[in-house]
Amino acid sequence: MKILITGGAGFIGSHVADILAADNNNIIIIDDLSTGKIENILPSTLFYEKNITDPSVEEIFEKEKPEILIHLAAQVSVPSSVKNPFKDMETNIKGTLRLLEASVKHGVKKVVFSSTGGAIYGEHDYFPADENHALQPLSPYGISKLCAEKYLYSYYKTYGLPYTVLRYSNVYGPRQDPFGEAGVIAIFVMKMLNNEQPVINGTGEQTRDFVYVKDVAKANLLALKNDLIGAVNISTGREISINETFSILKKITGISIPAKHGPALPGEQLRSVLSFEKAKQNISWSPTTSFEEGLKETVVFFKSLKN
Ligand code: NAD
Repeated sequence: MKILITGGAGFIGSHVADILAADNNNIIIIDDLSTGKIENILPSTLFYEKNITDPSVEEIFEKEKPEILIHLAAQVSVPSSVKNPFKDMETNIKGTLRLLEASVKHGVKKVVFSSTGGAIYGEHDYFPADENHALQPLSPYGISKLCAEKYLYSYYKTYGLPYTVLRYSNVYGPRQDPFGEAGVIAIFVMKMLNNEQPVINGTGEQTRDFVYVKDVAKANLLALKNDLIGAVNISTGREISINETFSILKKITGISIPAKHGPALPGEQLRSVLSFEKAKQNISWSPTTSFEEGLKETVVFFKSLKN
């Protein structure tokens, strides 16, 4: 199949491109390399360096006629979305809209969209949160992702463009940016390997549901072959505290650094854990990588960068 991946030079998008290329698909990537890296792109892939908000993005659809759109390109940082909500809106809402217009015009048969479980449900009313949980995003990032989901529904109803939304919990693994604001695991691993002190925000008792990036890539592969319309969580259902994450990583890296706590981040979510039951029932997806296994692979990757 001819598949267009936006954000394919990024952390998750590059793993999606890898698994789809291995599945014998013809991959085209659009990425502006704002956070993505050219070295993440397979040489066999057709690559367009372009901003998805640029009106000329449509020319790529016209020329390439992709059958499937996997849309991951986004402004992905919650703090940046708070600092600059206009930029977030521009990429995540206007950019998505541009791609949907081009998809309808040029015969795309299905859209798979990367959304967020962490930011879209807000502070959970019950645990684990499923897809029926109230959508109460606090950040502009959560709001723009929800808005994009609503546009997908509208384009499905109006033009019959089928779509599946994948709402990820916290994704981790090789190629995650260790210098960003979000990926706590990448940040901790890199610090530990450099013998630097990682800082745990607040008590460290805040929890997350960490899902391994290769499991997330597999969810994209299953979703594009499936006719489910709507959203599914892509998560593990396992709630892990930051303190526990720190201890496991200490064991894996073999580095003896005591835990150091800094001030809590204002407004940081306390608990986040998502049910993946709907993904299991509807797209036959379940996470297959244990947290410990995924962390080991992540440490191996970051060690290889240092050599
Ligand atoms: P990432 O920053 O590595 O990937 C985003 C990619 O999009 C980058 O390659 C970047 O260069 C590209 N991009 C950004 N703006 C663009 C634009 N205007 N035009 C073209 N390309 C652009 O981040 P990621 O973690 O791989 O995120 C991928 C997707 O998954 C995003 O949609 C994000 O919202 C979603 N998501 C990620 C997580 C997570 O834990 N990492 C959780 C939930 C949802």
